Amino acid sequence: MVVSKEVKPHIALLPSPGMGHITPLFEFAKRLVTNHGILVSFLVITADASAAQTQLFQSPDIPAGICIVNIPPVDMSNVINENTLVLSRVCLTVQESLKLLRSILVEVKPKVLIVDLFTSQAIEVARELSISVYSFYTASAGLLAFSLYLPTLDREVEGEYVDLLEPIKVPGTRPERIEDLLDQVRNRKIDEYKWFLFHMSRLALVDGILENSWEDLEPLSLKAVREHEYYKTVQAPPVYPIGPLIKPDEFITDKDARIFTWLDNQPPDSVLFVAFGSGGTLTSEQLTELAWGLEMSEQRFILVARNPSDASASAAFFNVGGDQNDPSTYLPEGFAERTQGVGLIVHSWVPQAAILGHSSSGAFLSHCGWNSSLESLSHGVPILAWPLYAEQRMNATLLEEGVGVAVKPVVQPGKKVVGREEIERVVRLIMEGEEGKVMRRRAEQLKESADTALSCGGSSYNSVCQVADIWKSLV
Ligand code: UDP
Ligand code: UDP
Repeated sequence: MVVSKEVKPHIALLPSPGMGHITPLFEFAKRLVTNHGILVSFLVITADASAAQTQLFQSPDIPAGICIVNIPPVDMSNVINENTLVLSRVCLTVQESLKLLRSILVEVKPKVLIVDLFTSQAIEVARELSISVYSFYTASAGLLAFSLYLPTLDREVEGEYVDLLEPIKVPGTRPERIEDLLDQVRNRKIDEYKWFLFHMSRLALVDGILENSWEDLEPLSLKAVREHEYYKTVQAPPVYPIGPLIKPDEFITDKDARIFTWLDNQPPDSVLFVAFGSGGTLTSEQLTELAWGLEMSEQRFILVARNPSDASASAAFFNVGGDQNDPSTYLPEGFAERTQGVGLIVHSWVPQAAILGHSSSGAFLSHCGWNSSLESLSHGVPILAWPLYAEQRMNATLLEEGVGVAVKPVVQPGKKVVGREEIERVVRLIMEGEEGKVMRRRAEQLKESADTALSCGGSSYNSVCQVADIWKSLV
């Protein structure tokens, strides 16, 4: 639908640094321009930009209605050091970069600014300039409900949340198990918690929250944040579920072509894709067990191999000047040879969404980052849940117990790693067991429901129309 020129509203989007934030916001920008006749300025914090980020903005098929505005890099050397944890690093980078925001907004003159989880410092600047502010919540509706409850929890609970004896009763939705709590709230004394609380407290200040989920995936949590008395009492803004917004089909480079040639030659639903997001790594001990478990399962797989988290300085030293990631240095001896033909070992960054979209992909062993989870479900692929950090344990529990599309390996009490036999068991279960078939059917249903939600007349499409109408009425 294209609307006449004079009513085309102009919206600015400001994602936090990192592909996990930029990707869904950029997809949203494309939809606003293409389906809803809106003009978008996409404000990019360029400090710490990855190769994947640079590549995204060089893509030839960016719609004409999107203007990429780079916020020049700032000198962070006095603000962060090697001990600064990841969320603090992101928040400090945003804080420094935003010193330039005012002049950019004055020049760009949008009617609406959309911030995301960790760019809420921009709210006041926008208000001063009489610009409406919305928030794009790039994680689950379950975490959104928890986040809206966090300021109350912070006032009412003394001591650490991890010491609570009962699950946390988040109003209107499933109680949050203490062991699933996200990393950022597991130690209230550190900066990561302070930053997280700061940004989540500010959700109440925006005019609306755009949630990257959809009605059929999280009915309970979405109903809660819209209808439960608690969220009304704290004056939570209206929530618009607009997802799942995921990376569309990617451009396949020559480097990646061999992955797809290999996949083309495998039977449908027969390959387990093993990848841990943009930052996830395992210890050497766990990686060894994983490799053995994959081999023992005799199932086809693609393994995105990354240096173990405890990779010794000497391993890096021996690689000086060459490829810093040599799987033969950390995978079991002979693994690549013994699994040749059955498995494909690939390095570092791969076109994940396209792999999940290939008909040979049958399951995803994933760290359950929210984007990875949405990409899997949008392609009808069930999940072997291996949460590592951030809010991934919450996501894994939602996918396993709430939605029924995932299975988690069992860690034996007192053990730090999942053993190879357990890995073999869950891989076989999801790839060839009855339970795997049930999960695959459920994932396929969700794929259909996601397609419907995003199509003209679907629930997420209608949510965007609703909010776009508000933006169009702003003068
Ligand atoms: N659900 C949700 N948020 C959650 C957990 C579940 O929206 O944190 C949804 C879930 O997708 C499912 C419904 O609520 O559609 C029921 O979930 P529950 O785990 O209560 O299912 P039950 O085990 O009772 O069938
Ligand atoms: N991704 C990718 N190739 C890789 C690793 C990751 O394309 O080799 C993409 C993945 O498709 C997803 C994002 O990076 O869109 C990861 O986001 P997620 O929220 O799952 O996890 P995070 O990396 O933020 O922990």
